[in-house]
Amino acid sequence: MNEQLNQWLQDHLDDMIATTAALVKHNGVVETAPTDGTPYGKAVADCLDEALRIADGFGMKTKNFGHYAGTVELQDGTPKLGILAHLDVVPAPADGWTSPPFELTVRNGKMYGRGTADDKGPAVAVLYAMRGIKELGLPLKSNVRLILGCAEEVGGDDMEQYQKHEAFPPLLFTPDADFPIINIEKGRLPSAMTAAVPQTTGAHIAHILSGTVINAVPAVAEATLIGYNGNEALQAAGELSLEGVQFTACSKDDSTILLTCHGVPAHAAFPEGGRNALTALLAVLAKLPGDHEPIRALSRLFPYGDNEGIANGMATADEVSGKLTMVLSMCELANGTLTAKADCRFPVSHTAAEMTAKFTGILQNAGFAVSCNGVEPHYVESDSEIVQTLLSVYEDHTGEPGRCIAIGGGTYVHDTENGVAFGPNFEGEELCLHGIDENMPLDSFLKSAQIYGDAILRLCGE
Ligand SMILES: [Zn+2]
Repeated sequence: MNEQLNQWLQDHLDDMIATTAALVKHNGVVETAPTDGTPYGKAVADCLDEALRIADGFGMKTKNFGHYAGTVELQDGTPKLGILAHLDVVPAPADGWTSPPFELTVRNGKMYGRGTADDKGPAVAVLYAMRGIKELGLPLKSNVRLILGCAEEVGGDDMEQYQKHEAFPPLLFTPDADFPIINIEKGRLPSAMTAAVPQTTGAHIAHILSGTVINAVPAVAEATLIGYNGNEALQAAGELSLEGVQFTACSKDDSTILLTCHGVPAHAAFPEGGRNALTALLAVLAKLPGDHEPIRALSRLFPYGDNEGIANGMATADEVSGKLTMVLSMCELANGTLTAKADCRFPVSHTAAEMTAKFTGILQNAGFAVSCNGVEPHYVESDSEIVQTLLSVYEDHTGEPGRCIAIGGGTYVHDTENGVAFGPNFEGEELCLHGIDENMPLDSFLKSAQIYGDAILRLCGE
């Protein structure tokens, strides 16, 4: 590693904090329908303008791609390395924050504020690594480009717009996830299914509601039952002895029961820790007498406790990416129509087309109308130049063994040909991304800048 650059960054930590503060003050949540002529709203556009102005001040060439994205060039020439960060943030209602979310505050050795960790702080760490290399005159064989996107959090078209004008450099990483390195992102297979449930005059299930987003294990599920009694429903639940969920039944009137199940929420990409209230509720409903075969079919396909698609036949795994995950995450029964959504993440050894065809067939055979559109997995070879170089940089700076990580979620580089995710989150560190009191410890902030600087030198230096 380069001690001169490490020292320069250490000496400029206060400037790095000040620059981050200048970006944090823009509440850059992407607006869906801005009326001011910017693609994502004034706040994120102002934030990009400010970032590019600061980089201009460091003597770097910058470019604004219509406020969809911007770029900062370390020097002249075609870049070999691209570093992709984003300036938009998720909403931060001030409730619960110890200090205002859009005013950077330093306390207990950490800087607090929305975007300090995701992803304004990391963008600043990269910018100062570039500035340090430039001001120290450390020689580079090829150029480096910082790409600042403005719609990562909403999965917007910022990078599509960028690519209308410029290609990604041949080597690419994003400081928008975890250290040591993420080079494997599973494919995704979101699906929606529908079937009719006859609404008879006898005992029947009139209404079901569970789940608010497709990518979470639902924590609550409820059903309105007509013509059953509450004890009957609770007894059915008791006989199933489903661990980790609780049922309650309350009478609405003489013939109407509201049956509610409480479970434990989790991200659908990591469902192991969750307890799916919806699949537990369906298991109980399936046991009740009555003409509701589609509900029984749904419960057979997605039984409680099965997060791997074992029952419906989708289960698969490979050595590099692990097991497929499958979570029934949303369901509604209203006016005799049952609709449900499932989140599925599949290993890199499968294609989106293959998995889409297979799952569509399974659901159609069970009597559901289906819409299902797979997203290809993303995989950069573990023995590639970029992965091996970044891992050795990480090891040199942390003294920890580097390793490749496979994830079920998608990072900012999921749709690129060649990108990997590299930091800024060190293992075991809780940065409260997207949460209350989002923060970046100052020692991690500095260390990440030193790591990014060294990565630039090793990938592009003489
Ligand atoms: Zn991010």
